[in-house]
Amino acid sequence: MELNELYREVILDHNRHPRNFGRLDPADALANGHNPLCGDKLTVTLNLQGDVISDLKFDGNGCAISVASASLMTEAVKGRDRSSVSAMFDKVHALLTQADAPSTDLGKLAALSGVREFPARVKCASLCWHTLNAALANADAADAAAVSTE
Ligand code: ZN
Repeated sequence: MELNELYREVILDHNRHPRNFGRLDPADALANGHNPLCGDKLTVTLNLQGDVISDLKFDGNGCAISVASASLMTEAVKGRDRSSVSAMFDKVHALLTQADAPSTDLGKLAALSGVREFPARVKCASLCWHTLNAALANADAADAAAVSTE
């Protein structure tokens, strides 16, 4: 099987059977993401233990790329701390936008490398990461709010 074909299988599988699909309740943080170019809408909920994303889920509606990317992301970041997640996002972003970006250390996320041949779909693939970052920022804001009301 050629690599491109393998990558396509991974995307199709994660689109048909999204991992970590749903919402955490209660959740430490929630964020909504919207990609108006395509109509993708995602919600990410997560729980933190200190600096580590101990659990996260996503739900929503979108194209195959947006759903598969979110599913792959939840598997990749669960159990990781913020700095490691941030470094991973940088690598994924490079993978999506740079023709010669390495896919080392990215595991199944490397399946998204085919997206860079379709620039209009880059926002579909990166929506979940921006939504995750927004959820992490919301968690910080909730912490700050909790402190300020005491
Ligand atoms: Zn899309």
